[in-house]
Amino acid sequence: MRRTTWGVVALVVFIAAAALIVAATDVPAAYLFAPLLSLAILWIGLGSLRSLQMGGAHIPDGDPQVVDPAVERTTYWCAGCGAELLLLVRGTDAPPRHCGERMRERIEIQADRGDGVS
Ligand SMILES: [Zn+2]
Repeated sequence: MRRTTWGVVALVVFIAAAALIVAATDVPAAYLFAPLLSLAILWIGLGSLRSLQMGGAHIPDGDPQVVDPAVERTTYWCAGCGAELLLLVRGTDAPPRHCGERMRERIEIQADRGDGVS
């Protein structure tokens, strides 16, 4: 069983036990549910830190690939300011950002004219 599943099972058991104790005794509910709330806050905080740890997951593992502009001409266009970029080395498939937005990709592939010269 995964670690998250064990955490959910332990949480459900704790809530059920706390509800039984509150119903059967004079213990105020806040005394039992306050530690539960602190555990929930800790769980959310640790989850946020784990997401920060994965922040560089978009960076590719492989080496950048050189794009031959004679065969494939990839440009990125910014809808905000009109800037246009020509891709010479491909590092990742995600388009770059400009003016706070993703740039629009346009790929032109050189058609083979059949005479060996393109
Ligand atoms: Zn721009």
